[in-house]
Amino acid sequence: MTTFAELGLSDALIATLSGLGYDEPTPIQAQAIPLLLAGRDVIAQAQTGTGKTAAFALPMIERVTDDLAVQALVLAPTRELAVQVAEAIHRYGRHRALRVLPIYGGQPIERQLRGLAQGVQIVVGTPGRVLDHLRRGSLRFDQLRMVVLDEADEMLDMGFAEELEAILQLVPAERQTALFSATLPPAVQNLTLRYTRQPVRVSIVAEQLAAPRIRQLYYEVLARDKLDALCRVLDAEMPQLAIVFCRTRQEADDIGERLQGRGYAAESLHGDLSQAVRDRVMRRFREGQLDVLVATDVAARGLDIAEVSHVINYDVPTDPESYVHRIGRTGRAGRDGVAITFITPRERRMLQTIERVTRTRIERRAMPTLADVAARRRAALRDQLREAMATPGLDSYTALVDELAATHDLRTLAAAAIKLLLNEAETEQVDTITRLDPAPAERAPRAKRGETAQRSRRGEAEMARIQINLGRNDQVRPADIVGAIANEAGVPGRSIGAIEVRARASFVEVPRRAARHVLQALNRTSLRGQRIRATLADETPVAA
Ligand code: AMP
Repeated sequence: MTTFAELGLSDALIATLSGLGYDEPTPIQAQAIPLLLAGRDVIAQAQTGTGKTAAFALPMIERVTDDLAVQALVLAPTRELAVQVAEAIHRYGRHRALRVLPIYGGQPIERQLRGLAQGVQIVVGTPGRVLDHLRRGSLRFDQLRMVVLDEADEMLDMGFAEELEAILQLVPAERQTALFSATLPPAVQNLTLRYTRQPVRVSIVAEQLAAPRIRQLYYEVLARDKLDALCRVLDAEMPQLAIVFCRTRQEADDIGERLQGRGYAAESLHGDLSQAVRDRVMRRFREGQLDVLVATDVAARGLDIAEVSHVINYDVPTDPESYVHRIGRTGRAGRDGVAITFITPRERRMLQTIERVTRTRIERRAMPTLADVAARRRAALRDQLREAMATPGLDSYTALVDELAATHDLRTLAAAAIKLLLNEAETEQVDTITRLDPAPAERAPRAKRGETAQRSRRGEAEMARIQINLGRNDQVRPADIVGAIANEAGVPGRSIGAIEVRARASFVEVPRRAARHVLQALNRTSLRGQRIRATLADETPVAA
């Protein structure tokens, strides 16, 4: 067992780390930190989740002087990673008030020019934008002494080879270079050959890669049942924060919107979105306003959010490395995580390959039944009620309880209160997911086609349909409508029914008894900067 002190870090830095709960170095830190402190070039094979950021950031913080010139540069493949790394350096270096600036495409260049002009010690940037600044002369490397290529394989995969070369040719020859990469394909090795000097290679062995804190499960599902299966799993697992991985951008959008339509706080994240939208989505995700982020591999690369409790592979990853990357988004910062993979019968081979290469066993699970979901909900509700009973502040309600208790049975009263709380109409649900599970005895009758589309857990008969004057052309998305109704009218998202966003209008179903209240609340509100006009629409339910 090594300590940070034994690695040669300063007392001030160790104190900061201990304040962050970092008590001992991770294996990659134990290997890389002493070498980097000694000024050696390092090639490190390590991926996100191993503590690689601190492995280069800590020596960097120790070696940078108070001089307000760019002394260290980190190159990262995506703006998300660049921002994350800059934040991490800032956090680790807070005893020194270091000036760290992330620079990346998509952000107005003026803001970065201003930041650079004020003087910074460490720049963290994406290759394209860094080169841009170099060529403009707004970024100067005459004092640069340390260069880190973070996720080098990813940068090359994303087509940044030329930019990397151009940048590396502009940095002083007298410098220290570190390269961090999950994999070391020939293109990366080629880069290290030309731009590092007598580098020391460090890596962490396969056993240390597979994060032990992540419970790995898989479900077998038919392709056509996947969306229902996803909702079922979300309902059963009740994730704090989940990332759902799929293969294409269109699919990410499609799944995101369909989840929104079913009342989940979901958004999609992929490379086609404008930077402003990506920022907004990431901010909402970080702040816990979203429960589900539907992402493509590239978009979610390097995301480090400790609260991600679940990773769901909606599509099986195309190779074992991508599997390891994806599941590494959960089980972070010492927390437990769950990784769930959907496998269609044809994809079993892929699963075996992943198990073999990653040397882990992925456990097969039976798809949760509707009864399982109900049981989980009940258990969660029980916990919530227990907690509420143990928390002060009930006095204002006890008078009402006393009043009703004089004429009513307490059990009935409590049951009615819970019913109101859940706002759920008890309706018969049909399980439409074909069971491919290990336990065929549980097989549920397969519903007739057509019954699947409107499985409303809200009870359609009691819903009213509201028309809103804003639609797609006004940038309104289903989640905005759910948000407006939930926030302004206090109607929980789960009791909101089908939502249909058309070009110039939207329709939403809400519980009939709440309809008047919702109308009043919506008519006091704006969506995307425009006043809402909401009216009661005709009575027919919205088609899916
Ligand atoms: P990374 O591989 O850099 O993405 O880091 C993975 C996670 O581990 C991040 O959430 C870090 O905050 C955390 N971390 C890094 N080093 C340590 C450490 N020595 N002790 C505890 N947590 C750490």
